[in-house]
Amino acid sequence: MIVLLIGPQGSGKGEQAARLVKKMNLLYFAAGDLLRDLAQENSKTGRQINQIINIDGKLIPDDLMNQLVFGFLDEQNLSSGIVFDGYPRTSYQFEELEKYLEGIGKKIDKVVYLKISEQTAITRLASRRICSQCKAVYNLVTDPPEKEGVCDECGGTLTQRPDENPEAIRARLNAYYQLTEPLIGQARARGILEEVDGERPIEVISEDLVKRLTSFGVGK
Ligand code: AMP
Repeated sequence: MIVLLIGPQGSGKGEQAARLVKKMNLLYFAAGDLLRDLAQENSKTGRQINQIINIDGKLIPDDLMNQLVFGFLDEQNLSSGIVFDGYPRTSYQFEELEKYLEGIGKKIDKVVYLKISEQTAITRLASRRICSQCKAVYNLVTDPPEKEGVCDECGGTLTQRPDENPEAIRARLNAYYQLTEPLIGQARARGILEEVDGERPIEVISEDLVKRLTSFGVGK
């Protein structure tokens, strides 16, 4: 099964993807993780990506993004299915992914839309902290660490993502509303949209999602 997770920043895509992957034994592709790794490379592309994602808060140009994703997919065995988190993010990326999958005899089976309000997105992003060592994610309001600034898992220092200052958050949400939200209409038109209330507790959403996707048929 090929599943896309769509929703504003802070809607819990990463969290839900991790649970889905585990419970349904799917591969996982996180666009942001791939880009953050590349942004650390001291190459022309690495510096370009760093500038765009960490300083400008904009999207990577579609053609570069597609090239990176298809390069990754070329190396994978997609037979047990995959969850995409953070890709596609524009109509063009969506259509190019459809073409790529068609070329290998596959299709997008479901687009899960994790719906939260803009205010919830802003609050969640501003209170998100990440362990600089093991990458565990905390929320200072709903899921704080036991000791302030210290990771419960490994004792590492908790930091904020460089693109989670108020200005970058605004720019990223604007890009989401302008460029990514139209995908929801495209998915609805194709009859593959699953709209999910993303304001509920994480485990409740996860159970709901697994139930919906299981009834659709794993491995289809
Ligand atoms: P994320 O961790 O998913 O919020 O991604 C972090 C940043 O990477 C985004 O703010 C964008 O700058 C960039 N990015 C992630 N996915 C994409 C995509 N599909 N297309 C273009 N840029 C992306």
